[in-house]
Amino acid sequence: MNDKRKIINRYEAVSVEESLRTGQRSLHASKAFQKDEIISSFAAAEERSSPTSLTLQKDDNVHIVLSPSFLQYVNHSCSPSAFFDTTLMQFVALKNIAEGEELTFFYPSAEWEMAQAFDCRCGHHNCLGTISGAAFLSTEVLQRYRLTDFIQRKLAEQKEKRA
Ligand SMILES: [Zn+2]
Repeated sequence: MNDKRKIINRYEAVSVEESLRTGQRSLHASKAFQKDEIISSFAAAEERSSPTSLTLQKDDNVHIVLSPSFLQYVNHSCSPSAFFDTTLMQFVALKNIAEGEELTFFYPSAEWEMAQAFDCRCGHHNCLGTISGAAFLSTEVLQRYRLTDFIQRKLAEQKEKRA
């Protein structure tokens, strides 16, 4: 986790960095943020009807390509520091974030069924392992996280169907 990185691009409040060891890019705070503070507003540069590894889910069959594009470097963590509010279209801090800290989000907080599942190696004690979207997680796990209005609606629909 603690490897050397170089800065690829610097923006007003964030920077895109690259691991010298793995080449993986990540987004970092270049200033401190308070819990609930807006890190960046965002918009849809493009809308797609099916997900890719770079889209964020906004609704059934609505997957957006993020603008500003540096937001594509926000990696998944099972213990995320930030959240994409796809109703207000704001990327917000879930906790106090120190300058230099990585900005991460919990993919299933926005993604119902992801294009590709992957094995998480975030290293947190509560790491969920395989991440493939909210549809594959239990309510018990999901309620530990802040979820988009879309995911909350999907969970309510699922509950109704089962009842
Ligand atoms: Zn994890």
